[in-house]
Amino acid sequence: MEWFKLPLTAQLELLNKGEVTSRSLTSYLLKRIEEKDPQIKAFITVTAEEALRAAEEADKSRGQKDHRPLLGLPLAIKDNICVRGAPTTCASKMLAQFKPPFDATVIKKLKEAGAIFLGKTNLDEFAMGSSTENSAFFPTRNPWDRERVPGGSSGGSAAAVAAGFCAGALGSDTGGSIRQPASFCGVVGLKPTYGRVSRYGLVAFASSLDQIGPITRTVKDAALLLRYIAGRDEKDSTSAPHEVPDYLSALKLNLKGAKIGIPKEYFGEGLDDEVRGKIQEALEIFKDMGLAVKEITLPHTPYAVAAYYLIAPAEASSNLARYDGVKYGLRVEGKDLIDMYKKTRSQGFGAEVKRRIMIGTYALSAGYYDAYYKKASQVRTLIARDFQEAFKEVDFIVGPVAPTPAFKLGERVDDPLKMYLSDIYTISVNLAGIVGLSLPCGFSKEGLPIGLQIMGPHFSEEKVLALGHQFEEILKLYEKYPEI
Ligand code: GLN
Repeated sequence: MEWFKLPLTAQLELLNKGEVTSRSLTSYLLKRIEEKDPQIKAFITVTAEEALRAAEEADKSRGQKDHRPLLGLPLAIKDNICVRGAPTTCASKMLAQFKPPFDATVIKKLKEAGAIFLGKTNLDEFAMGSSTENSAFFPTRNPWDRERVPGGSSGGSAAAVAAGFCAGALGSDTGGSIRQPASFCGVVGLKPTYGRVSRYGLVAFASSLDQIGPITRTVKDAALLLRYIAGRDEKDSTSAPHEVPDYLSALKLNLKGAKIGIPKEYFGEGLDDEVRGKIQEALEIFKDMGLAVKEITLPHTPYAVAAYYLIAPAEASSNLARYDGVKYGLRVEGKDLIDMYKKTRSQGFGAEVKRRIMIGTYALSAGYYDAYYKKASQVRTLIARDFQEAFKEVDFIVGPVAPTPAFKLGERVDDPLKMYLSDIYTISVNLAGIVGLSLPCGFSKEGLPIGLQIMGPHFSEEKVLALGHQFEEILKLYEKYPEI
């Protein structure tokens, strides 16, 4: 049996029925990682011993009538989320040796639900990037075409799921880092509402934007994982008190007559023709499903990239001030304290992280604050209002995830502006704090996956997941696998 081809929910069913033990599923996946990951490089750390030990414990406790919902289910975790005792590097030299003494809340919750962890996946350093090429260690390759990037920053998690190293992983999304790699790798990625999932134990990048979410083979699987990671957490004051619904049973919601808005700003210049074509085909499917489709406007879209690339670096420059060689992380000795700071930060951070710290520090400095940070925050409000207005008329907004399918390794790393501009369709969702789901809607002529984005208002995860699930059951693209 090719277990790696099974979605998470199907793996769970086999485990629950006793048709496979967690030990055998886990060692099967670990073997696949050992054999195939050298070509993909999705993982920074594989925690094989811990995973096998946890799998054996899960099998034993199942025998003693333990019915925890994710018992024995193997997952992978982006390497900016703390798993106690395992390295959490953020793909940075700064944290190369860092082993957190605690679990992030999402990890604690998944452990309580019975899940086990195969390892930590690659990312752009501190989640800053769109290709995973900014990892200080190595780039990850796209399982559909190894000459191409898997997207980023959660490229390792998306590639791991696409390659069948695991059926589910966690990522983080500050400006598209769950959705864009999911789209490039032909898998599903959900950016939940800001506050839906606790960020305690997620290494902070831009705190007003960061959200943790699932990357999976199917929308149904994303609903399953969200159910167990969502909820209020005393340790994250920004987490929302809203009750956590049963996202799996919501998948059956009747959506006939619901309205989809198509923002005209998302179909302008710069959008690849093949991507445009596949999204249009998807719209026809939505109409056949009984939904109404109408054009809408999100007029401040053209300013989203500029606003994001001030707000995110500003917050990053503040968050990354803690890496000073004193508290934790890398320390490079110098002749005095200032020299030690300089050496530590010069050697510890890569080029993109330094660029963000400089932009952010500048944007926040006296005399420039009003012109940059304050202005960007005002634009952010306008972008959020665009969505509020639109959602008075429609239930969902649908568009592309990225302007093109996966690009070639090396093609954009030397042109940061070009890289930033390709985040145009994902960034507004973070600025507004709403829900964004990326799911496959087809392949390009070259055989590269193309993603579709479904956006919904705050806390509309049930409806967004339901629409995504009902759509995926028509095309069943999750049955397709890359040859590796
Ligand atoms: N590509 C965007 C950036 O570089 C988004 C990254 C993210 O969501 N973590 O900032």
